Amino acid sequence: MPILVMKFGGTSVADLDRIRNAAEKVRREVERGYDVIVIVSAMSGKTNELVGWVSKTSPLFDAREYDAVVSSGENVTAGLMSLTLQEMDIPARSWQGWQVPLKTSSAHSSARIVEIPRENIDQKFAEGMKVAVVAGFQGISEEGRITTLGRGGSDTTAVAFAAAFEAERCDIYTDVDGIYTTDPRITKKARKLEKIAFEEMLELASLGAKVLQTRSVELAMRYKVRLRVLSSFEETDETSGTLVCDEEEIMESKVVSGVAYSRDEAKMTLLSVADRPGIAAAIFGPLAHGGINVDMIVQNVSADGRTDMTFSCPVDQVLRAERAMQEAKERGEINFGELVQDTEVCKVSVVGIGMRSHAGVAARMFEALKAENINIKVISTSEIKISVLIDRKYMELAVQALHDAFGLDEAA
Ligand code: ASP
Ligand code: MG
Repeated sequence: MPILVMKFGGTSVADLDRIRNAAEKVRREVERGYDVIVIVSAMSGKTNELVGWVSKTSPLFDAREYDAVVSSGENVTAGLMSLTLQEMDIPARSWQGWQVPLKTSSAHSSARIVEIPRENIDQKFAEGMKVAVVAGFQGISEEGRITTLGRGGSDTTAVAFAAAFEAERCDIYTDVDGIYTTDPRITKKARKLEKIAFEEMLELASLGAKVLQTRSVELAMRYKVRLRVLSSFEETDETSGTLVCDEEEIMESKVVSGVAYSRDEAKMTLLSVADRPGIAAAIFGPLAHGGINVDMIVQNVSADGRTDMTFSCPVDQVLRAERAMQEAKERGEINFGELVQDTEVCKVSVVGIGMRSHAGVAARMFEALKAENINIKVISTSEIKISVLIDRKYMELAVQALHDAFGLDEAA
């Protein structure tokens, strides 16, 4: 039997009616002839509640007990989903992570998947079980403790199962009907993509399109797991949603596939630092140590052996970044004149694998921003992405202008 993995997120299993609705979708796939592995999240809001209980009980909690508590939401939905399917006369069984067993590292609250042995579930399929319902987000460490995979981790559970069981596809059912060229709340012209390449999705996921956990996309890319994102609240068929797949599966695509943004960025500039070997290491070492997610970096032209160094980071890390820099200065590791902050910026990016083979994308992007009189503060590029830092108040305008400039409202 071909195997299909179907993952249902928190809003898709938020109450008993929705679990039943999700189970109907599973039934349809069973009737099509699949053995199905269903991965479930906790009911929406549940994980947040559990996290809250943990921090209230013990502010400096033991991460092993955090995982013991926070993983429990998925256990409930896995059992309920299995019962719902059984009520529909579909042979189903639930599995908690440790029962599979989904083996992970011991990094509690952000564990890595090490191995998913197939024997237990395969044997049940051989005995006539049609659906294995697996609690997402959780596993077991070498020490035999329950672990969790980090927030949003059920997506990663789903992809890992699809890889381990060589599933035909991994369908991610959620509350949106696919991946869009940009956020539909920002422009009505946003269009649902039929297909998107893994690499593009990775850029979009990490740029703030919060549909899939970034790690799940990395995993899908590594194992070439075809991922489909679709809505659990609509009638769906084989062609619904957006397929995240290898670029070879995408015949014709535009130069730019999507416009992403990240609203709450900050730009920090260290004025007048000594331009000498090791200065970047002396600055970015303490920042990394302080847990600052540095994104863009620009070192300016130097004059008289001194230069300015600019970097960007999430706005809520500015205080920590500042402290890391002041402390490094006090320790005599770096010397700078002033630390200038701009906390009113955002990042807007255009993403597309077509950039590899087309020139002029950056020029077209800058032209579109110029036409709206938007000043660019920092630019960074990668093979398939160009990002700019601009004033936050222009974010919507910039996204709309770029969406138009690259013709994203028209089909490819
Ligand atoms: N329930 C977990 C969370 O909210 C995992 C998941 O749903 O993916 O992060
Ligand atoms: Mg999610």
